[in-house]
Amino acid sequence: MEEKQDTKLQQIIGYDEAYYMPVFGKRVPLVVDHGRGVYLYGTDGKKYMDMIGGIAVNTLGHNNGKLVRAISSQARKVIHCCNYYYNEPQTMLAKKLVDMSFADKVFFANSGAEANEGAIKLARGYWSKKGTPKPKIITAKMSFHGRTLATIAATGQEKFRAPFAPVMPGFDYVPFNDFEALKKAVDAQTGAIMLELIQGESGVHPADFDYIQAVRKFCTQNKILLIIDEVQTGVGRTGTFFAYEQYGIQPDIATLAKGLAGGVPIGAVLANQSAATGFGPGDHGSTFGGNPLACAAALAVLEEIESKGLLNNVNNVNAYLVKKLNSIAKKTKKIAEVRGKGLLIGIELDSGSASDVKMKLFEKGFLVSSIGSNVIRLAPPLIISKFQIIKFISALQDVLEGKE
Ligand SMILES: *Cc1c(COP(=O)(O)O)cnc(C)c1O
Repeated sequence: MEEKQDTKLQQIIGYDEAYYMPVFGKRVPLVVDHGRGVYLYGTDGKKYMDMIGGIAVNTLGHNNGKLVRAISSQARKVIHCCNYYYNEPQTMLAKKLVDMSFADKVFFANSGAEANEGAIKLARGYWSKKGTPKPKIITAKMSFHGRTLATIAATGQEKFRAPFAPVMPGFDYVPFNDFEALKKAVDAQTGAIMLELIQGESGVHPADFDYIQAVRKFCTQNKILLIIDEVQTGVGRTGTFFAYEQYGIQPDIATLAKGLAGGVPIGAVLANQSAATGFGPGDHGSTFGGNPLACAAALAVLEEIESKGLLNNVNNVNAYLVKKLNSIAKKTKKIAEVRGKGLLIGIELDSGSASDVKMKLFEKGFLVSSIGSNVIRLAPPLIISKFQIIKFISALQDVLEGKE
């Protein structure tokens, strides 16, 4: 039995090497079979605590009954119908997101990159329709906005753009958390500023409260659209439904994706009434975007967040997790900094490789992600309990102390 299942792992890895484009490099040697709650199970029958949650996607964990029922009952009714027609889950999800946010209008896409493409187009459309095109958008260095051609242009990291030149023009990059630099970069062509509130992909770096306040005031005074990319920080991840709530601001445009439908692909562009004028009939579209299956899943996720009080859980678990991480930082002297909000946490190692720590945790049955050479990122399902965190902390401490 053991041997047969090990063969499965080797077979899948072999086929992946043969048939899949190698963009993910060498993956962690786990063939996921199924999941339940905060745990994933491999084809070898081993159980792993999922501390990365599909990169902030599995909001409700795995195999959540309410989500599974919403998806299956919607699938029995209709999975897809094109946007020539209305569908109830799409409309009700748009209404719900408007009720919960700064926004007046919503558009649905299928991923984070696609939502950001929509936001970029919307900002350009807004200025064109006013008769004063302002195509330039300022973004932050070390930001991440996606892998499509417009979103790598928006992403302030050369390594994502260089091999795919020519890059779409119209983006300027400024150091993150540096308001003076941002002010200097603005000119008559600047139509929007696009920021993350926590730079997740480059190592979990939160924006400063004062910086975001200053940027908001500046955008209002200078009539520049503020786009907040909440693809990773949204849907309760940081302890409020949107991270912008913690910065005391409202954006003009925001994007959501990862956690919104708990694992079913979806993206959303949210805009206030004024910014939303950037799109009129015929200006944008999507075949799959807003389909009944994805929207029914998202509605179930939002209902579960409310009915289970998951925002409270995120805040309680955060307080406990950060306290424990800081205490093992003191004990082991192997952690330089613990950053982040809610259940989006970066652990910067003092010494040693993050990827080694990731692999040792994997051997002990815990899944985390490593960013760059020295940051471990945690983004577990919002349902995770303190009891489960205790187990993770103990494993992490063992790994940092070199215990087997
Ligand atoms: C993941 C991510 C994206 C891209 O989302 P995809 O669904 O992978 O296209 C964009 N912005 C941020 C902040 C992200 O974390």
